[in-house]
Amino acid sequence: MSQPRIPASGGAPSGLQAQNGAAPTSGSPYTNGPVQNTLMSSHVSAGQGYNSQLPASYHLPAKTALNPVSGQSNYGGFQTVSPLSNYQGLGQTLNRPPMASNTMTPSLHGGPFSRMPPPASQNSTATPMPSGSFHPGVNLPPPPSNWQYNSPATGSPINHSPPVSTQPTGSGNTNLTANHQYISSGDPSLQNSYIKSGSAPSLVNPPLPTTFQPGAPLGPPPTGGPPPARAPTPQKPSHSAIPQPSFSSAANQEATPQFPNKNSKMGRSVGYAYPSLPPGYQNTTPASTTGMPPSSLNYPSGPPTFTQTPLGATHLTASMSGLSLHPEGLRVLNLLQERNMLPSTPLQPPVPNLHEDIQKLNCSPELFRCTLTGVPQTQALLNRAKLPLGLLLHPFKDLVQLPVVTSSTIVRCRSCRTYINPFVSFLDQRRWKCNLCYRVNDVPEEFMYNPLTRVYGEPHRRPEVQNATIEFMAPSEYMLRPPQPPVYLFVFDVSHNAIETGYLNLVCQSLLDNLDLLPGNTRTKIGFITFDSTIHFYSLQEGLSQPQMLIVSDIDDVFIPMPENLLVNLNESKELVQDLLKTMPQMFKKTLETQSALGPTLQAAFKLLSPTGGRMSVFQTQLPTLGVGALKLREEPNQRSSAKEIHLTPSTDFYKKLALDCSGQQVAVDLFLLSGQYSDLASLGCISRYSAGSVYYYPSYHHQHNPVQAQKLQKELQRYLTRKIGFEAVMRIRCTKGLSIHTFHGNFFVRSTDLLSLPNVNPDAGYAVQMSVEESLTDTQLVSFQSALLYTSSKGERRIRVHTLCLPVVSTLNEIFLGADVQAIAGLLANMAVDRSVTASLSDARDALVNAVIDSLSAYRSSVLSNQHPGLMVPFSLRLFPLFVLALLKQKSFQTGTNVRLDERIFAMCQVKNQPLIYLMLTTHPSLYRVDNLSDEGALSVSDRTIPQPPILQLSVEKLSRDGAFLMDAGFVMILWVGKNCGQNFLSHVLGVQNYASVPQTMTDLPELNTPESARTIAFISWLREQRPFFPILYIIRDESPMKATFLQYMVEDRTESALSYYEFLLHIQQQVNK
Ligand SMILES: [Zn+2]
Repeated sequence: MSQPRIPASGGAPSGLQAQNGAAPTSGSPYTNGPVQNTLMSSHVSAGQGYNSQLPASYHLPAKTALNPVSGQSNYGGFQTVSPLSNYQGLGQTLNRPPMASNTMTPSLHGGPFSRMPPPASQNSTATPMPSGSFHPGVNLPPPPSNWQYNSPATGSPINHSPPVSTQPTGSGNTNLTANHQYISSGDPSLQNSYIKSGSAPSLVNPPLPTTFQPGAPLGPPPTGGPPPARAPTPQKPSHSAIPQPSFSSAANQEATPQFPNKNSKMGRSVGYAYPSLPPGYQNTTPASTTGMPPSSLNYPSGPPTFTQTPLGATHLTASMSGLSLHPEGLRVLNLLQERNMLPSTPLQPPVPNLHEDIQKLNCSPELFRCTLTGVPQTQALLNRAKLPLGLLLHPFKDLVQLPVVTSSTIVRCRSCRTYINPFVSFLDQRRWKCNLCYRVNDVPEEFMYNPLTRVYGEPHRRPEVQNATIEFMAPSEYMLRPPQPPVYLFVFDVSHNAIETGYLNLVCQSLLDNLDLLPGNTRTKIGFITFDSTIHFYSLQEGLSQPQMLIVSDIDDVFIPMPENLLVNLNESKELVQDLLKTMPQMFKKTLETQSALGPTLQAAFKLLSPTGGRMSVFQTQLPTLGVGALKLREEPNQRSSAKEIHLTPSTDFYKKLALDCSGQQVAVDLFLLSGQYSDLASLGCISRYSAGSVYYYPSYHHQHNPVQAQKLQKELQRYLTRKIGFEAVMRIRCTKGLSIHTFHGNFFVRSTDLLSLPNVNPDAGYAVQMSVEESLTDTQLVSFQSALLYTSSKGERRIRVHTLCLPVVSTLNEIFLGADVQAIAGLLANMAVDRSVTASLSDARDALVNAVIDSLSAYRSSVLSNQHPGLMVPFSLRLFPLFVLALLKQKSFQTGTNVRLDERIFAMCQVKNQPLIYLMLTTHPSLYRVDNLSDEGALSVSDRTIPQPPILQLSVEKLSRDGAFLMDAGFVMILWVGKNCGQNFLSHVLGVQNYASVPQTMTDLPELNTPESARTIAFISWLREQRPFFPILYIIRDESPMKATFLQYMVEDRTESALSYYEFLLHIQQQVNK
């Protein structure tokens, strides 16, 4: 076999080879993303947005008469306001929100506030961000030089085994998001049924309903009261003897408990000395003192009534023999011989090798996945496997069914604040042992009553212990201020360029259509700002006959005129709002203003939202040209091919700084970028990335010239405006003692060590984290991960959504490989590669991706395989690893060549960071189907519709045939290619044309014909579309279409002018592995 040409990054073979073995890497320090710690401790320090000012307490200045401006005639009440000094410093427009409010309202919870300050508030001195620096990691020790999942601890001779950084880093990102219901029912209790009703262990009672509405069923015990024997609560006094973590704010409630000896790891569930047991428990098993034996080992065989989830060692041992693994999973494959490993149905995540009684309680992989479903015992073992350890989360996914619990006591571990979950163990009826830190905790009296069964003394059957995914209604100690109202501020670019695209009509119409569907309640507030070279505010005060426009032309010193009338109650001012939305597109129809003062406008919008927090939706169509945050053209088309000189980093830190200010005041910024020209998304995107917003990108948007983009915007706005939203949210991920989370990926701000600040959370956002094994897990057989998302619902409720995932610990390399989740691995590597592209270079990132495959397969070959076969031997679990990495190399984020525009590449990177895994994989490795012969065989039946399920084909032209029609589903775009000799049946019964020649050049929709073929095809494509939170554009193309090249670009297995074919890639990998 001849050596394959290696057109690696920049066409330099050395880029690949340099890292495979002896030669050191380029030496570029590698850190996974912008390190946020310095910022964390500086910029958003005190208060963290829990501003004690309540919306209702604003001091409203007296209304000031504004001078009407002549010359802006056809809209009532045009007024210009010059920056009068008396507009400055209104009480509610905070200039530096993060500094605000250490004067938080003490929580209703007993403890004084001072016991639990936000961790970051200890560094209340704001240090300025390094100017122009994208990642303020300059003060940190040099980051490791390669992927962080490798650690030098092993002393591995391979150079790309960098030290593990335990420095938590955050790397926000932006993206469209993902989820499956276009209409989000505001009520989480009505969500999807991944939790089967039979999810309780069979030994437990008859199937229990899993939906608990706040209120009735979970209220106090029946009037009869508890059995007399239980009526007294002798435990309670002893509680007070124990240092009780207290919480000072909503954030802090989810935040770390206060411990005397907190250190940098504070807040994680690991690494604490065990608090001494309360006096009453001195005689408990020594389990929780030293050595921390795993819950499973010390699980006492309690009374028969106490057969909680069987976490016993015997159960595990049985499963360790691989009983729960599909036999196929044990196969070893030679990829050079077995090239078609792609399953014809969607790839399923591996099932953790757990006893079925545990596994059936486990969190759905749609919500929570680990790259390794067998967690290595030690970091040394993990290092040897050369696979990344991390989690991929979709924590706020729309769910049809979600247990919601209202209870006065939310049971959490006293030490690490883990929420009680299905994987804790009950020592007896009165005590449970935390599965994260092994602390023994009391079962509160209330917990002894099971509202489902209406039985006493079954704490292990409470819904909290039966559901790995659950939502709690948070009591008042989880809030520092009353839950904020839903506040929506829309910011529209109305420059000439913007008006030209026609987007404003569409957006205003969409808002009119969905105004009543905005998630909210009677407190919902709304406001609008438009801008070009000046900033225009709109007074919508109830009682006005029509909206009043207020123009601020001083963009150097932005102030808010009449702040009290700019964000108004939607119900009270609905007619004015509708009036404004109807007239706004006309107002700027003839504008000649070409400048864009985006930066000052964002500052103004931030000020407006600061007192309450809320969501800012910004529509921008060009490069900002005026005032702060103005940007310059940086893209040079002829440099696109060079992987080195592209501008992936922001050109200014303005947007990041402002985003952090926003984050501090619970404001998230969603950016809709509609632009035909370079708009420096690398800089602009920071505004969403660090404020936990989303980025939408519509390149070349024009309502007439690009109607499919208009359709896409319209559909996506529908979803955006109506989807569920959580406000003033924080998320924390905890894991079993011994494991450590060190890097976060997604759109957020890392507020303290591991507390993610999410001013808004939406159901379409995904997150990823990297982990390491800090302390040996040899004493335990199970580890758990728990994410807790505390948020304010659009109905004004404080809620906590908790997911808990349990995985087995493994002690051999083979077991690690057997349990590898190749999609999760590819997803995590993609996140790491985005960071690497930014901090080092694109070619570095590409090399690292390739090395990830080479290293792990080399490890497998040298350490697991006993016979040295000549081919490319892989464990079954990793059979798609090389393919997925090749797909990543050809993905827009990482591909080389001249055909990716810079903003498109940045947007693709944003999506990698912010998309749930399922969509990331679909955009990376599309699904190809033959659709001219759809049948009902094996079809799905979805609410009276029959959805054909054609097999998924390999991504190679070999799979095409001229007599067929093939659908390429690449996530955001679908291309239906019609072969030259496509059967007449498909042409006339699906496309509605006489013959091939009459297939239109441009076709973006299928006609609805009265034929079964048409019905099937439309049903299939609609079904694919409606499962996504974004709207894939459909192109129907003929073989001669110019778009065929795009279609072929998705053929990951084929060679392109700048990338290897799959087979060539395999040969390259094999060569390196067998060295
Ligand atoms: Zn604990």
